[in-house]
Amino acid sequence: MTINSLNYKTIEDLVSEWKGVINKIGFQFHTPFGDNDRLRLPYGKIRNQVVDTLIQLQRKYPDFIMNTQRQLELMKGSWGGGVSNTPIDCPFWAILLLDHKGQTKHPCCIGSSDPNAIKPICEKCGIGCYSILVAQGFKNE
Ligand code: SF4
Repeated sequence: MTINSLNYKTIEDLVSEWKGVINKIGFQFHTPFGDNDRLRLPYGKIRNQVVDTLIQLQRKYPDFIMNTQRQLELMKGSWGGGVSNTPIDCPFWAILLLDHKGQTKHPCCIGSSDPNAIKPICEKCGIGCYSILVAQGFKNE
């Protein structure tokens, strides 16, 4: 589930509804491509509360919720260490990313192979597949 400003109150209901129906679930946060993206849940009190709720759910259902506590804690802030559209800590190189033409996407899975395409804002990133690597010790060093 990608958590955003519209659906963040549905997390507990979603876990109740799908536990026992599907094998696993992972959570990440919406990553904006523009500064005024209203779907983004900004850093701060509400986002921290959402992360804390996720951590409680992960402790309760460790075999169902795939995120680790360390990764979820990273989601409270700018884990990618990026500046604007440029990733710094994010190990974007760790996953091979090809589009439908076999061309490499940049800077990551939500990017594009078109160098002129709009790019995600790394310092506001909420993506799960890279933040889990940082939580496990992978960094762009
Ligand atoms: S996952 Fe993508 S958007 Fe997020 S920090 Fe890495 S390169 Fe930037």
